[in-house]
Amino acid sequence: MRKCWNCGQPTNDEQSRVCSDEICQRAEKKSSNGEFRNKGLVKQHEKNREYNQRPEVKAKQREYQRKYNQRPEKKARQREYQREYRQRPEYKAKAREYEREYRQRPEVKERKREYQREYDRRPEVKAKQREYMREYAQRPEYKAKQREYAQRPEVKAKKREYARERYQRPENKAKAREYQREYQQRPEVKARKRERYQRNKKLREEE
Ligand SMILES: [Zn+2]
Repeated sequence: MRKCWNCGQPTNDEQSRVCSDEICQRAEKKSSNGEFRNKGLVKQHEKNREYNQRPEVKAKQREYQRKYNQRPEKKARQREYQREYRQRPEYKAKAREYEREYRQRPEVKERKREYQREYDRRPEVKAKQREYMREYAQRPEYKAKQREYAQRPEVKAKKREYARERYQRPENKAKAREYQREYQQRPEVKARKRERYQRNKKLREEE
């Protein structure tokens, strides 16, 4: 004698696990459709959740996750994902935006200026800079541009003005006088002067 699994009444039906009662028939149908099986799963899931909430279980899971993340293949996958992610246009746009915003921050600007100052003061950097300037000044296109610039009337005027102003400075006037005196003392200058004097004297005598 079999028993209906739903209500427990005896049943003669060899083909079914339930009796002929309509409720039990529906229950059997639901069960074979998976609803009761799901109920069991839900119960199991709740039990699992309760288990997983325990501190010692959580700690163990974290430890496992940490070890898992350290596996080479996992790391490689992570790197691959990161690489792919950074290639995306929306990520690039966001990164650019952030970069721009970051550079605008006063403390970042100040730090950069400070670093630049420190960098420019280095002897090897100064030497490289001078070398570059020298090389740059030798370029034909630069020379041509310089020549063209120097030919401008306003530039010429300014240059003349500057030379005059410089000559007017007392220390430069004194220097010029000193140079003149030194120049007149040179033997070849003296010789030329004497020669000129003799020539003029001769011309006067001949008149
Ligand atoms: Zn039944």
